[in-house]
Amino acid sequence: MIEAKEWRHERERMVKGQIIARGVKDERVLDAMRCVPRHLFVDKIYEHQAYNDYPLSVGHGQTISQPYMVAVMTELLELKSGDTVLEIGTGSGYQTAILALLCKMVYSIERLSALKERAREQLDKLGFSNVAYMTGDGSLGWPQYSPFDGIIVTAGAPEVPNALIEQLAEKGRLVIPVGTEFFQTLNLVTKQKGRIFRKELFECTFVPLVGKQGWKE
Ligand code: SAH
Repeated sequence: MIEAKEWRHERERMVKGQIIARGVKDERVLDAMRCVPRHLFVDKIYEHQAYNDYPLSVGHGQTISQPYMVAVMTELLELKSGDTVLEIGTGSGYQTAILALLCKMVYSIERLSALKERAREQLDKLGFSNVAYMTGDGSLGWPQYSPFDGIIVTAGAPEVPNALIEQLAEKGRLVIPVGTEFFQTLNLVTKQKGRIFRKELFECTFVPLVGKQGWKE
């Protein structure tokens, strides 16, 4: 993707002031954040706030994550260009775009079809062709295309869904907020020689993961 010209200075300010300043170092992630026109993933009324340091409403009670959170979760996946990624919680599609620039294929699941459709439309318009979309319960993963080198969950879960651990590739990395419906800790789960390792990283706040291996509706 060619870097969008509009709001370029705001994006650079966001990358320097919010992301590099807080310790994200992966140049590929920083470049992706410089490229993707985040203002196109929010409602027009929020356009001028799109590069600010907070999440924004995308309707239906859901949010587009804070830019720093997108950057840090993406960096944790340590993506390589040949990787396949499962994303749970397509939402606005902004995180999807960042992932799609950094790996071979993104499989993205969203529970609310209205959000999925809007995200797909925007990503199509920007020319992303390496994304597959599904409306459904991402807490069960997408077994058909597993295993995944990276799995990213952008909604808060009561615990790490077993289905996702099963669908993680050897040497794969899973990032997921785990905690209560209002307050979570970002977890990094890795698989090495078939063994599962889990690290708790820092506190965060996401909307709830609603599903069979998430919260009840
Ligand atoms: N990454 C998105 C975050 C959206 S908020 C962005 O930055 O725009 C989290 C999203 O997860 C919401 O859109 C919500 O509808 C979705 N979600 C919640 N539970 C889900 C589930 N079980 N499967 C798929 N999506 C889910």
